[in-house]
Amino acid sequence: MHNLTLIKGDGIGPEISEAVLKIIEASGVKINWDIQTAGAEVIEKEGVPLPDRVIESVKKNKAALKSPVTTPIGKGFRSVNVQLRKELDLYANLRPCYNIPGVKTRYDNVDIVVVRENTEDLYAGIERQVDNDTAESIKRITRSASERIAKFAFDYAVKNKRKFVTVVTKANICKLSDGLFLESARKIAENYDIPLKEILVDNCCMQLVQNPNQFDVLLLPNLYGDIVSDLCAGLIGGLGIAQGANIGKDYAVFEPVHGSAPDIAGQDKANPTAMLMSAIEMLNFIGEVEAGNAIRKALFKTFEDGIKTVDIGGSYSCSEFTKAIISRL
Ligand code: ATP
Repeated sequence: MHNLTLIKGDGIGPEISEAVLKIIEASGVKINWDIQTAGAEVIEKEGVPLPDRVIESVKKNKAALKSPVTTPIGKGFRSVNVQLRKELDLYANLRPCYNIPGVKTRYDNVDIVVVRENTEDLYAGIERQVDNDTAESIKRITRSASERIAKFAFDYAVKNKRKFVTVVTKANICKLSDGLFLESARKIAENYDIPLKEILVDNCCMQLVQNPNQFDVLLLPNLYGDIVSDLCAGLIGGLGIAQGANIGKDYAVFEPVHGSAPDIAGQDKANPTAMLMSAIEMLNFIGEVEAGNAIRKALFKTFEDGIKTVDIGGSYSCSEFTKAIISRL
């Protein structure tokens, strides 16, 4: 029996969590879930969107599966997602992005791994209102965080037999901040046989759309990493199938790339694949590799049999799709 935390989230979070829990249960892995809530609904009762009990639960269990929590746009509380990553020092956001058999897209053989720095940059939330008509955000980049994430990217590349790492910045404009990120990547690269390539983020976006097959591991500061992750998700069929993990020295939180998709919440339309593939990585993390492989096989077979949710060109609901996976397990 494994003890793990589940952060249910909001929007489509509860639907996709339920789907994933059912599939994991059907795989035979025994998990004692500590179900935690966070976000807007929690503020009313507990005064804060991310109570200490959530952090304590992840610390106790070492790993969590998390579905999206809505962040209010332009006002309101700070992102629970960002705060959780900071509090647990989950410094690496790892987002493998590859074509899934049975999901047709414009691109073949996409196989990119996005490694995004997860704790600083413009996401540090250091902003101020200078006057009524002027606002400022501080883009904070430190040598220690930049070297740490560069090392993570290279270690990942070695372990997973990747060919090269491309560091993505705008160091021609943000000479000090992105300049430091780039300099740190160059320094860390000296310790590895794997080559480091360099590209500016605007060109990277264009090149990704024109020919994604030219990239392998991408190493990015926080903001570019967020944006480029969504772009990469688009290459393989959309956010509904893009998996992710937040990894630190002591803890890991597995969550899809997508947000809470309020536009389709509560309609049984959401695609649980991104959350399921994140959960498969979590099963690997806790040593349940066989169960993870069996779930992946059942998922891919479901796609190959033409059973898909609406976001990727199918007509099945979230619950029908979930049942179809379970019947193939
Ligand atoms: P955030 O900034 O919080 O990550 P976002 O702005 O990227 O959120 P999402 O909530 O991820 O926005 O939604 C973007 C679009 O993708 C929406 O149209 C949404 O319906 C769609 N989408 C996201 N996740 C899924 C999913 N699992 N299944 C189907 N559609 C999804």
